[in-house]
Amino acid sequence: MLDSLHLLLTYQCSGECPHCFVWAGPVGPTMTSAQVQELIESAEGEGVSAIAFEGGEPFLYYPILQHGVRCAQQLGLKATVVTNGVWAITQDEAVRWLRPLTELGSLGIAISTDDYHGGQEEARRAEMAAAAARILDLEPVFFRTAPENVMFRGRAAEELTDEVEHRNWEEFNECPHESLLDPARAHVDALGYLQLCQGLCPGRTGDKSLSELLDPEQLAAHPLIPVIDSDGPAGLVREFDLPLKGEYADACHLCYRARAELRGEFPQYLGPPRVYGDFS
Ligand code: SF4
Repeated sequence: MLDSLHLLLTYQCSGECPHCFVWAGPVGPTMTSAQVQELIESAEGEGVSAIAFEGGEPFLYYPILQHGVRCAQQLGLKATVVTNGVWAITQDEAVRWLRPLTELGSLGIAISTDDYHGGQEEARRAEMAAAAARILDLEPVFFRTAPENVMFRGRAAEELTDEVEHRNWEEFNECPHESLLDPARAHVDALGYLQLCQGLCPGRTGDKSLSELLDPEQLAAHPLIPVIDSDGPAGLVREFDLPLKGEYADACHLCYRARAELRGEFPQYLGPPRVYGDFS
């Protein structure tokens, strides 16, 4: 049962990290305040208890973020923001950015910071953001990716796979990270793509409600999701006889490659294009 909805508030980001699942960067679509509010209200109607505001970098659109946090908290939903801390120029400045969000109600903050996120200045700002959170009685969670725990989807599948050993495609017979037929969390972006894993969609929220998209019978009838759920990405290669019988960095690497091959056949289920590095 869906417990948390993750809003990809924007695909825009101050960075262009090589391990980014969604190919965030300087240009990309962003939700409006009305979209954010509508999604939060429908999530609350579905029994969701938590909303995460992610991106891209959600603080780039601070008024929309603030509106979203307010909407979530007015409905009694737990709000969490995920940020790289680019806004934390100094500790005082960071407190100034964060305090209005904390005044709306209880807030979680997760800070993404690691060597893939940039150099000393990016790391310093992440530390400033964490220090500001503690001043405001928030205990930050850190999302740190190291070379040994990269998941090779999105940009990482293009840029980082040379760093690790590869294994035969037939070994990847399960999805190691997601419960696709009974998801506890889902992501939705500014284009309406509801994503159970980045780029893997039951459909779009503009066309159907969350409950319709996540109906167990609908998920079981999806052309791709049950295959990945039961046989992993190797199942996609077998089912669609894809020309991918080589070696891969991990299950997600093979899954990303297989889904990229299938995008033309299933555009409504494999999108948006930018999550596969397609900016055309
Ligand atoms: S195996 Fe596929 S569906 Fe599972 S987490 Fe990796 S990329 Fe996502």
